[in-house]
Amino acid sequence: MQEIKVELTQNPKQKPADESKLGFGKIFTDHMYIMEYNPEKGWHNPRVEPYHAISLEPSAMVFHYGQEMFEGMKAYKTEDGRILLFRPDKNIERANNSNRRLCIPEIPAEDFLNGLKKLVEVDQDWIPTQPGTSLYIRPFVIATDPFLGVRPSDTYLFMIILSPSGAYYESGLDPVKIWIEDDYVRAVRGGIGEAKTGGNYVASLKAQVKAHDEGYSQVLWLDGVERKYIEEVGAMNIFFKINGKVVTPVLNGSILPGVTRASCIDLCRHWGLEVEERRISVDELVAAAKDGSLEECWGSGTAAVISPVGHLRFEDSVMQIGGGGIGPVSQKLYDTVTGIQTGKLEDTLGWTVRVK
Ligand SMILES: *Cc1c(COP(=O)(O)O)cnc(C)c1O
Repeated sequence: MQEIKVELTQNPKQKPADESKLGFGKIFTDHMYIMEYNPEKGWHNPRVEPYHAISLEPSAMVFHYGQEMFEGMKAYKTEDGRILLFRPDKNIERANNSNRRLCIPEIPAEDFLNGLKKLVEVDQDWIPTQPGTSLYIRPFVIATDPFLGVRPSDTYLFMIILSPSGAYYESGLDPVKIWIEDDYVRAVRGGIGEAKTGGNYVASLKAQVKAHDEGYSQVLWLDGVERKYIEEVGAMNIFFKINGKVVTPVLNGSILPGVTRASCIDLCRHWGLEVEERRISVDELVAAAKDGSLEECWGSGTAAVISPVGHLRFEDSVMQIGGGGIGPVSQKLYDTVTGIQTGKLEDTLGWTVRVK
């Protein structure tokens, strides 16, 4: 493991006074983590520095061909002052899966975790404590060779930045309305859908704008080949409860394997619910909504943790699920996952890692 140099800021920023106005992804803490890669030294020079703008050549490869990987996770401060990360090993493993797919050199897991912990420790006073708030953590890698040819870059920057974020739901869980998109697609098997990378997001913008214009908050994607099978929501995986069984699309290469998704599956099985990971066609869903067997639907992802879905729209049919309210499994998952994350519930599954 490499030793991290720490340079503390001489000009600490004013911390936000009102935690109810944090929003998401707008405020950044006093420090950042940086590590560099070149073929001679590998990943080297890990350091924590004051948060600052970076300077890159306009020819840096990331600007032209999108060679970049990112992650998203959160840190929480418990009532008794501990600082917890939620399953960071899963994010680190996924980051390196994404890196391999994107021809980015893998980051040694221990340097990644060590950097993460160090940075969060340095900026621990920025972790908000009101219910539902957290410190959002954004690790990412960019390709930096100044070169316009198409090939994997030789040099990279790995950075981690932190953003205190507000409660996703101001007043308890709130069901969302989701648009099932059958024109645009997000990803195809064999593409980069299972990597966490900017390219998947730029591919999604057009449909997201369309869905917003129609009054829907997010897009549910269908498979890119037949546009028939359910894949996932913008930045969340999707679950259904049909006839008493929990059903979620099987990881098929074009779906992002969410850490929250894996945790939901584990918890549901732990509670004795039957969980099926399989293909689900949109026709099956429409039929289940019609005959009343579609009991619940929720999205899972780091930002909202659990997002109950009250309405799904596919072409001209609007499906109301569970009366448009919050289903019992959605609520129990939300309470359990957030309870473990914030240290309110005992972590019997060993999912949290202490920063301190
Ligand atoms: C990050 C992400 C998710 C959710 O993953 P978590 O690890 O649960 O946060 C789902 N879908 C996409 C496309 C994502 O980028």
